[in-house]
Amino acid sequence: MAIRLSRRGFLAGSAGLLVLHPFAARAQANQAHLRLMETTDLHVHVFAYDYYADKPVDTVGLARTASLIEAVRAEAANSVLLDNGDFLQGNPMGDYIAYERGMDQGAIHPVISAMNALGFDASTVGNHEFNYGLTFLQNSVAGAKFPIISANVSKRLGASPREDETLLPPYVILDRQITDGAGNGHPIRIGLIGFVPPQIMNWDRKHLEGNVQARDIVATAKAYIPQMKEEGADIIVALCHSGIGEAAETEGMENAAIPLAMVAGIDAILTGHSHLVFPGPDFDGHPGTDNATGTIGGKPGVMGGFWGSHMGLVDLLLERDGTGWKVISHTAEARPIVLRNEDRSLTPLVADFALFSQPRRPNMTRRWTMSVGPWARPRRRCTAISRWSPTILRCRSSPSRRCGM
Ligand code: MG
Ligand code: MN
Repeated sequence: MAIRLSRRGFLAGSAGLLVLHPFAARAQANQAHLRLMETTDLHVHVFAYDYYADKPVDTVGLARTASLIEAVRAEAANSVLLDNGDFLQGNPMGDYIAYERGMDQGAIHPVISAMNALGFDASTVGNHEFNYGLTFLQNSVAGAKFPIISANVSKRLGASPREDETLLPPYVILDRQITDGAGNGHPIRIGLIGFVPPQIMNWDRKHLEGNVQARDIVATAKAYIPQMKEEGADIIVALCHSGIGEAAETEGMENAAIPLAMVAGIDAILTGHSHLVFPGPDFDGHPGTDNATGTIGGKPGVMGGFWGSHMGLVDLLLERDGTGWKVISHTAEARPIVLRNEDRSLTPLVADFALFSQPRRPNMTRRWTMSVGPWARPRRRCTAISRWSPTILRCRSSPSRRCGM
């Protein structure tokens, strides 16, 4: 697919700001630069548009994050584009699809359609993918032209995680060709494994009880990582829809990124769920993380904000030895779509990606109201969002904007 850049994106990409990542220049023969690009917690924010205020905004939207992609790809010799979950729910567009338009078998969810257009390589699911029920989830996932994986949610639990009948494939091993520092191509097998907080069993009990079960994130990882290695994964990246919490492992923890990263065999970790930015000031002094080296539990990691606010980047310098590829150096960065100035004004750093330049408003011809969804009720911060005016674009009461993570 040809990626057309807007003028502003073109200028940002080509008028001096485009700098090759050091690994792209430094890689020798049998060494290769691999860039992992992460979006996370998009929550249906395809457009740079605030449906509550009914106006364009510069702070959100895959339409903006996507404008980073071409430059970000150009800075790297090899790259993969990954999403970390929570894409189906979280704004009026999501509720419109769920409650008005519906997701029949064969329909393509608009956020999936956007991700297909951008050439995502893989995704995992977040807790909010379960908000509208399993049929909605499965019909949405079925439209993706890329694998969507999750290792710790199962239709039937076996004696050990490897014997579970998982709802989605637990992991995927991407067979790719990678270019080394001498310009030679080599095969690489990139293993990806997905995780979601097991708390979904409480948060979406009415959809999930009796239908699926969730396992502890770290225990599940410890079972599958050796299997992925046996199947020939050269490197393994965790798509962890779980936040950066305590460094010490506790059974069933919601924010398990640090103990997960420490599992042997995991080479890099993409995190999310808590809608923060790593590396960055959100994690200054946070035990088990290092903002300077961009590591989580000692492994390269990132958390790319939320609603498309950032693109998370993990850059790996790989070296080929007799048995495959290993990571010999790494960096991490969360690249924003907007600059927040000291006077609190905003400077957009990218324009809309050409494919997604207009907000698509649902074609509403009749008056309707709806509740935001059953998950909102126990969450006090969400109770203000209860009814919608005749169009989906306005909320009658002043909405709280963060309905859980
Ligand atoms: Mg989440
Ligand atoms: Mn989220």
